Amino acid sequence: MKKAIISGISGQDGAYLSELLINKGYNVFGLTRDLDEDNFWRLTYLGIRENVKLIKCDLEDFSQITSIIQRVQPDEIYNLAAQSSVSLSFKIPKETLTFNLISLINLLEAIRLVKPDIRFYQASSSEIFGDAQVLPITEETILNPVSPYAISKASGFWMTKNYREAYNLFSCSGILFNHESYLRSDNFFIKKVIRESIAISKGLQPVLKVGNLEVKRDFGSAKRYVEAMFLMLQHNKADDFLICSGVSIKLSEIIKYVFEYLSIPSYKCVVDKELYRPLEIHEIYGDSSKAKKVLGWSYNIEFEDIVKELINEELKNWK
Ligand code: NAP
Repeated sequence: MKKAIISGISGQDGAYLSELLINKGYNVFGLTRDLDEDNFWRLTYLGIRENVKLIKCDLEDFSQITSIIQRVQPDEIYNLAAQSSVSLSFKIPKETLTFNLISLINLLEAIRLVKPDIRFYQASSSEIFGDAQVLPITEETILNPVSPYAISKASGFWMTKNYREAYNLFSCSGILFNHESYLRSDNFFIKKVIRESIAISKGLQPVLKVGNLEVKRDFGSAKRYVEAMFLMLQHNKADDFLICSGVSIKLSEIIKYVFEYLSIPSYKCVVDKELYRPLEIHEIYGDSSKAKKVLGWSYNIEFEDIVKELINEELKNWK
């Protein structure tokens, strides 16, 4: 039975990736900084909490990581743990950069020293490309990160490539564009819009306050994107792959769709300049032809179908 370690087990992608690996017969070990059961509501929601072995680990402590790798002897490690909010990274740049980079270096270094045949996945992000002049983004696009979060992920991308080239590790970066699900944290745009819009429709909240709605993003389905993570580590050659839907959508269009679906008048959406980011990516969408051709990954979900499904799942579980 294959063994996989997942850092960031309590997050959205940690939950969907665990589900996928368990279904493929893996023994899944999840690293967490806090063993409080409430943190694992996503695993419980997917009905897999009992199938994941949790290990408390401070990813900034190298010795803890080496002893876990020695004990577990995993075949694969997926590094999903990160301070993952762009907005928050402007408020806590030091913590974002420190954690996101030190945890990754510790993992790569521990793999190199303890078990160099481990296949390693690094969760990178489309944010590393910043406000690109040429679209769609491909694996060849020049990095131009414009937030502390993006800078941490850009450094992580180069670090992962560096260990691949310098030490021949099987280390890959999945450069994922925004991906959504009911399991997304409440502070991310689509989840926030849907939750607060439902609250408005139930008379529990007066208006929806939002930042810059003119920007365009490429959104996809989290459950489908984690399949690409898995495929990257099954391929015969370590490489970096871009995973996206290929379509960009304006944030104002998302609100229009959600408001219409829930019969909310448009004046209940209020733009608050305080919520603007200090620097913004205006439009971004990618081309995942390489992942489709090389890994056999496929994706053809319409964005409206994802939003509709998310609204209905949120309504079903509303409390
Ligand atoms: P998420 O739901 O925000 O989960 C982040 C995970 O990282 C959680 O398990 C969290 O643990 C852990 N974490 C955060 N700060 C930590 C710290 N200081 N020490 C230890 N653990 C810490 O993120 P996600 O959506 O699953 O994304 C997974 C990865 O993909 C992240 O690296 C993210 O940056 C990247 N990514 C995500 C997207 C997306 O659209 N979702 C797109 C591109 C890249 P706690 O529960 O203890 O906080």
